[in-house]
Amino acid sequence: MATRDLGPLSLLKRLIAARRGDVRAMEDVYHLRGVLTVIVVLSATIGLPGLMLVYYGIVGIRADELASAADVRHRADTAAEAFKGDLDAQFSTFKDRALTRLTSGQSVYTGQKELSDALRVVFRFDNDGNLAEPFLGGGGIDPREDQTFLLFDGWQEAQKAEQAGEWDRAATAYGNAARQTHNRRDKERCLYNRARALDRAGQTREAEAIWQQQIEEKTRDLYGFRLGDLARLQLAQTKFRRDPAGGQEDLQALTDSLLTAPWEIGRGGEAAVARRAIEELPSGDWKARAQGRVDERSSQLYWAERLQPELDTLGAKGRLLRADTGNFVYMRTDSALWAMTWTESEQYAFALDLRRLLDRYRAMAAADGGADDVVRATLLAPDAPVPPDTLARASLTPWLPGWSVVVGARDPAALAEQQASQRRRGFGIILLSLTMIVVGTVMSTRLVRRELDAARDKSDFAAHVSHELRSPLTQIRLKAEALQLGLATDDAARSRHYDIIVRESERLSRLIDNILDFSAIELGKKRYSFRIGDLGLTVARCVEQARVAMETKAMTIDFELPDDLPVIWHDADAVSQVVINLLSNAAKYGQQSGWIGVRVRVTGTEEPGGKKGGGEICVDVSDRGIGIAPAEQKQVFDQYYRSSDPQARSKKGTGIGLTIVRYIMEAHGGHVGIESAPGVGSTFTLHFPLSFTPPSANVLPASVVP
Ligand code: ADP
Repeated sequence: MATRDLGPLSLLKRLIAARRGDVRAMEDVYHLRGVLTVIVVLSATIGLPGLMLVYYGIVGIRADELASAADVRHRADTAAEAFKGDLDAQFSTFKDRALTRLTSGQSVYTGQKELSDALRVVFRFDNDGNLAEPFLGGGGIDPREDQTFLLFDGWQEAQKAEQAGEWDRAATAYGNAARQTHNRRDKERCLYNRARALDRAGQTREAEAIWQQQIEEKTRDLYGFRLGDLARLQLAQTKFRRDPAGGQEDLQALTDSLLTAPWEIGRGGEAAVARRAIEELPSGDWKARAQGRVDERSSQLYWAERLQPELDTLGAKGRLLRADTGNFVYMRTDSALWAMTWTESEQYAFALDLRRLLDRYRAMAAADGGADDVVRATLLAPDAPVPPDTLARASLTPWLPGWSVVVGARDPAALAEQQASQRRRGFGIILLSLTMIVVGTVMSTRLVRRELDAARDKSDFAAHVSHELRSPLTQIRLKAEALQLGLATDDAARSRHYDIIVRESERLSRLIDNILDFSAIELGKKRYSFRIGDLGLTVARCVEQARVAMETKAMTIDFELPDDLPVIWHDADAVSQVVINLLSNAAKYGQQSGWIGVRVRVTGTEEPGGKKGGGEICVDVSDRGIGIAPAEQKQVFDQYYRSSDPQARSKKGTGIGLTIVRYIMEAHGGHVGIESAPGVGSTFTLHFPLSFTPPSANVLPASVVP
């Protein structure tokens, strides 16, 4: 078909030919215009939307990627902010609690646990930035001084007497030693020990008199004990021995005064004296509370001692005084965080355990990070390098100067892989859509083309039919008129005229039969009348009919028919039509050879094992004519199909004969086969299965069977 060749060159050729007035080319161009319209419509409805799909698909993939990156960044920002928020809240709470205590007149020393469990020690400073209650700047004891004291003769001698339990001698020796030394601290220590020896020696009143004198003493001994405190302890203890109730009161008063007095950093005497005093007391609430207070104070003192060097540096630089009123100032040390505030008259510094705080924030970061499966927060030390995959960072200043929280992807590789797989999926979908569009376009183009071909075949068919009808009618009319007008003068001429009239009428009625049958088949209304009968007889009648027909008169028909042909169910009229169609094709397309072969045979009746079944009657109709090209052998059975071979096209025809053959054979449970070679000839074989039994509705009543 012309429409099948859509190459640009052939298109151009046809356009030129059409311009020159070539009718066929004009027709082709007309058809091509249809195809071009289809192409334009397809491009507009499928091609363009397809391209748009690709464009927006790619834009969409990019947008998705950006959105997911933005989402991760947003999560990171949120995590960092949340962390900062938690930290703010904790420090604000701490600050508020401290201020509340201070403004309500409560001590911040006693409320350490309430303020924060990381709070180690509270310092108060005076307006000059010097350490005030409850701790005093530490003095410590000069080791050289200690050395002198321990080697001092009077002291040594008294010690020996004391160790020997000679208390009178010890008392005298300590008294001599006290007179020998000019050092006030040593003198007081000797007097204190003399009183102790006197007490042991039974001279309690004298001992008590010495202690009483020493009570106001602020001097400390070489172990950091305030001699006045020791003296009070001794007095209370001796009183306790005489009068337990009075002694207990004194011991409690001593403990209270020790706990309310400021302690000096670097000296631990107060705690030890308080512990000794408490020890004497009977168990009870007061004792437990007092022990707790002493423990707390001791722990504060421990921290204060550890922080003293740092505090000295800060104090020396005057930084402790530089904060604004009511504000906190933070200074980091390796071990603690300093927080400081003051009201108008008071200044406080809070030492918080940095390690403990950091541990808590690390746990918080891990827990916050754990809440999100995409990002993870970590604490970053002041000098630590920022990890390369950091998405968000929040400084923890002013709470933890230099420290920051950094948030990165939990698993950057997995995130990248997730993005890549998202991208692949996106491209996959676009590719699949494009493939579907292309396949759809190809399929619809084929369908359109097939429809165009079918329309053309149908219009060709109409042209062929009118031609096929007109020529026999013209012949009949011409010959009949000639006879009527007496133009055929002799018998031979008349007989020829009659023959032609008969032959053309047969052709006409065959054609009409075919057309009617074909339309009945097309509409599904073809009716069959099956009966059991001799198929050979039906075929023989057709062969006979063909022999007398003019068309095949000049041809030899070799007819082979076996004697013992089994009877089978068939519609004799339909089978006749099939055989006559094949015979007339054999005559039409094999005319030049002058030979037609018709052979009826039975095949496959005997199966291995002697069983009957599976057999069929075959009818071969052969010619030695133009043959059919292998590529067309299947198509010749399609409706309206006529070979593109010019030799075949030169013959008249409608392209429905073989279609009818195929349908009728299928109605008999059989089929038609073809064996053909161009220039050699063709054999059409009808296969009638012996086992075929028709549907009962199409079986003629028994009475009609001859
Ligand atoms: P028609 O003969 O009316 O064209 P048919 O359906 O009978 O229609 O045949 C279809 C086509 O098959 C023919 O146009 C012809 O090209 C080819 N054909 C049929 N029978 C033969 C044959 N015996 N030898 C060669 N070609 C044949």
